[in-house]
Amino acid sequence: MKDTPKTAWNSRRLDMKAFALAGDSMSHEAPLSEFQRLHTEVHPDGMPMPPPVRWHAQGEMRASASGGSPDVWLHLEASALVPLTCQRCLAPVDTPLAVDRWFRFVADEAAAEAQDDDCEEDLLALEPRPNLLDVLEDELLMELPLVPMHDTCPTSVALGSSAPADGIDQDASPRRNPFAELAKLKK
Ligand SMILES: [Zn+2]
Repeated sequence: MKDTPKTAWNSRRLDMKAFALAGDSMSHEAPLSEFQRLHTEVHPDGMPMPPPVRWHAQGEMRASASGGSPDVWLHLEASALVPLTCQRCLAPVDTPLAVDRWFRFVADEAAAEAQDDDCEEDLLALEPRPNLLDVLEDELLMELPLVPMHDTCPTSVALGSSAPADGIDQDASPRRNPFAELAKLKK
């Protein structure tokens, strides 16, 4: 297949400036298993084939706020469905993650660090060329819920207990012998 401008971009080492100057975009999907850090969160008994992570990147040049040369911007959108571990019942809970972020690019990492405190937007470095998959994975990890949980757990929380139906046995606590308790205190 011949390289065309639409397919020539290397998302793992993107020439971000050229991408933005071209005003180009790309859409991809990648298996969840390719995102190793995210994949460590996946429940082992979750969906055998979780849907791929779908993402879209759009480059754009924008007038600089400081009046200098235009800035390089990236709009990154992604969606994923990740089987996490429900913190109530420990079963898999399919959790949708969505990313919708803008990044402004500066020359290098030193410039990004220097400007980071002065601006609200997220900064990335043009050099070394960014790996969009890493940027994307960072964003997906930030979208993970602190406490993944089903709205309604599919199984009983009290696993293995043979709790009677409501109302039949209200007094299920083990009965204590008051005289035995007293005897303990006297010792
Ligand atoms: Zn649950």
